[in-house]
Amino acid sequence: MQDGCTPWPEEFAERYRAAGYWRDETLGELLGGLARSHPGKTALVAGEERWSYAELDARTDRMAAGLHRIGIGPGDRVVVQLPNIPELVTLMFALFRIGAQPVLALPAHRSSEITYFCEFTDAVAYVIPDVHVGFDYRELAAEVTARVPTLKHVLVAGDPGDFTALPLDGEPAGLPRPDPAGVALFLLSGGTTGVPKLVPRAHQEWSYSGRAVAEACDYGEETVHLVSLPLSHNWPLTHGLLATFHAAGTLVLAPGPSPDEAFPLIERERVTETGLIPGAALLWMEAAEWDEYDLSSLRRVTIGGTKLQPEMARRVEPALGCRLQQAFGMAEGLCGFHRWDDPQDVVLVSQGLPVSPADEVRVVDEDDNDVAPGEVGRLLARGPYTVRGYYRAPEHNAKTFTADGFYRTGDLVRLLPTGHLIFEGRVKDQINRGAEKIAAEEVENHLLAHPSVREVALVGLPDDVLGERSCACVVPRGTPPTLAELAAFLRDRGVAAFKFPDRLEIVPRLPLTPLGKVSKKTLAGMFH
Ligand code: AMP
Repeated sequence: MQDGCTPWPEEFAERYRAAGYWRDETLGELLGGLARSHPGKTALVAGEERWSYAELDARTDRMAAGLHRIGIGPGDRVVVQLPNIPELVTLMFALFRIGAQPVLALPAHRSSEITYFCEFTDAVAYVIPDVHVGFDYRELAAEVTARVPTLKHVLVAGDPGDFTALPLDGEPAGLPRPDPAGVALFLLSGGTTGVPKLVPRAHQEWSYSGRAVAEACDYGEETVHLVSLPLSHNWPLTHGLLATFHAAGTLVLAPGPSPDEAFPLIERERVTETGLIPGAALLWMEAAEWDEYDLSSLRRVTIGGTKLQPEMARRVEPALGCRLQQAFGMAEGLCGFHRWDDPQDVVLVSQGLPVSPADEVRVVDEDDNDVAPGEVGRLLARGPYTVRGYYRAPEHNAKTFTADGFYRTGDLVRLLPTGHLIFEGRVKDQINRGAEKIAAEEVENHLLAHPSVREVALVGLPDDVLGERSCACVVPRGTPPTLAELAAFLRDRGVAAFKFPDRLEIVPRLPLTPLGKVSKKTLAGMFH
């Protein structure tokens, strides 16, 4: 582990190694092993590209050498903001191979978030597409490089403009071997604070999470997994890329989850597995009624990221003609899936069972006492792939992790006697908008800088498609602002569009709890 990261206590590390969860293998070596055991097997299909494990490995090697040649090396942070294109996979494994660490940003992030990630991690490089969904990332890179002195390279998949083109090439000899216990990559936490938190994931524990998912989902070489959600999110990364590779299956990348983009790929590639958020699943179910694509290869559809309501869950299997699996997970680690032989009533109401026998979950009250079995409480998690702290965040870690290393997820759950979790809500100040997490405090801080905003509280309101939408409750200063003005203001400040409020309510004052904090519960109730 490196500076700014919290290691597992040696006693736990030893236990996880002895049980075989943690192996002396880096993620780069995992891919190398697959290239030897399954050289001709198709690893990745994306756009017109179709690469075998041997080809992916060779491309990764050359890219690793090219990155090393321009001076990127062990422990260097590289902010990666790529959509679902094959270069994202090669680049990640190339960085793993030389011990440089991708910081996985989302294509939706803009200058406010990207500048912060680059500054906070002292990143040496930033990787972008040229233009994606009409947005020119080279302009964003010009803005960010002007502000962040540590950035030495901007690498572009596509037309590089003034920057350097990917892929880079070099002779893969004499590359350094990273420490399997060291940080492989940084994932973004959904977050609850003014700035996003980064989750350092180590080679051996993150690799194990993928292996555990592959086992829980009984993946094999015949698995063809379609990822249509942004691959930089933890869930598609672990359940899609990592678990599929562990099983030597085939990963298919779609640019997005719309039926227009995904259905032709399912038919062409005979896709067997895929992960969806409930909003996208709804679109698939509607489209499957009239669309003529052959979806019969689908063995199972996994739905998660935000709660799937039981009424909708019931409609999935008849509409899509395959099994429903629910899943939950978090960038910090703990994740759960239904198993193939779970009874139907459990699959409809619960969100899954933790994937590792060594996952420890507790459901507690606000004083950390265990609640009675089956009661709703706060979910705490610890285990062989649940981190012990955020990156460079000692104060926040002291609040977010218990003294004995459990992560306070901020989720309210109850446990079935079988161990399956049912998500019942949240205590964290976060909005789950179609599985994109919005830290209310971050957006409130931006909005407070608007001249017409005296006070503001951002709350989540229920939404049939997205699960939740955000509502800014504003106490105005002078003439109240409009929703469009607030969106334009946030855009000018370089904030990702999914964080713009969906609704604005002007209020004379913010209601308070007896302790004098803003009562978001009251506000959400007022505008429900
Ligand atoms: P992230 O780190 O962005 O993946 O967000 C993790 C959070 O997403 C969890 O702590 C939950 O609040 C929420 N979440 C993930 N999966 C589900 C699910 N199936 N149902 C309800 N909430 C979920």
